[in-house]
Amino acid sequence: MFTVMDIVQPTTVEEAYSILTKRKNNQVIGGSAWLRMGSKRIGTAVELSQLNLDYIKEEEEYIEIGAMTTFRSLETSEVIESNFGSIIKDSVKDIIGVQFRNVVTVGGTIFSKFGFSDLIVALLALGTEVELVNAGRIKLCDFLNKEYEKDLLTKIYIKKNDVKATYKSLRNAQSDYALLNVSVSKYDNKLEIYVGARPQIATLAVKASEFLSNNELSDENIEKASQIVSEELAFGTNMRASKEYRTLMSKVLVKRALMEVK
Ligand SMILES: Cc1cc2nc3c(=O)[nH]c(=O)nc-3n(C[C@H](O)[C@H](O)[C@H](O)COP(=O)(O)OP(=O)(O)OC[C@H]3O[C@@H](n4cnc5c(N)ncnc54)[C@H](O)[C@@H]3O)c2cc1C
Repeated sequence: MFTVMDIVQPTTVEEAYSILTKRKNNQVIGGSAWLRMGSKRIGTAVELSQLNLDYIKEEEEYIEIGAMTTFRSLETSEVIESNFGSIIKDSVKDIIGVQFRNVVTVGGTIFSKFGFSDLIVALLALGTEVELVNAGRIKLCDFLNKEYEKDLLTKIYIKKNDVKATYKSLRNAQSDYALLNVSVSKYDNKLEIYVGARPQIATLAVKASEFLSNNELSDENIEKASQIVSEELAFGTNMRASKEYRTLMSKVLVKRALMEVK
């Protein structure tokens, strides 16, 4: 369990960011599910619940989601389902249990850049952007590749378009972390394939995505693209699976996902 010397509940984003960056050991508290697993000593904990960042808002071109929105809200949102189908729900619905998903937040998840993250891989397929106080509004993929700097994530934006997208994962046991997760999107004949939990953070399979964007989405080309993914991406070994197993299973998951957007 973590220890805090002091806790504040700012009412403006500016105040929250100013306190956060005042001292090195000041830290944001999101849902605190992850922080609870560690033993950090936090100077001033910046608790975000007074910032009104727990919302899902439909705008003309985007769905805007506040950083304190929980997984359960994402999972049960009609606005999200009617715009993007079940991809987001599918990515979070198997994480631990409902009580847990009522606590963990979008901001805590994205800012942590977990390699195993199920939500991140799904959001990548939807072309999500993130907004941070210092870094501003940037693409999620750019944020994931950016070097760590202390910042406050306030919201995310998912563009509304006719994207067809799907998510697949593989777990050794139901409540375990994914040993591999995949998302695929198809928009205007442009195909994107993302693979996460390699165990590194999710990334675009550039060559396979290009191949399918320039060729017909036939069974034969899906087979070829799955093979390209397994060859172009780096996979590794950890306690959940070996590099060899991940490499083999990536072909299966990518193929299943592509068949769904065909
Ligand atoms: C037991 C367990 C099992 C899990 N299993 C899975 C799984 O199978 N799949 C999966 O995808 N995820 C899994 N997770 C991760 C979980 O989904 C969340 O991603 C994680 O708990 C972080 O969210 P939080 O709201 O709890 O963040 P917190 O614990 O509050 O914070 C985590 C970190 O993010 C920072 N932070 C929080 N909010 C912000 C913000 N708005 N701006 C900037 N920094 C911020 C905090 O300072 C801290 O460093 C698991 C977590 C636990 C504890």
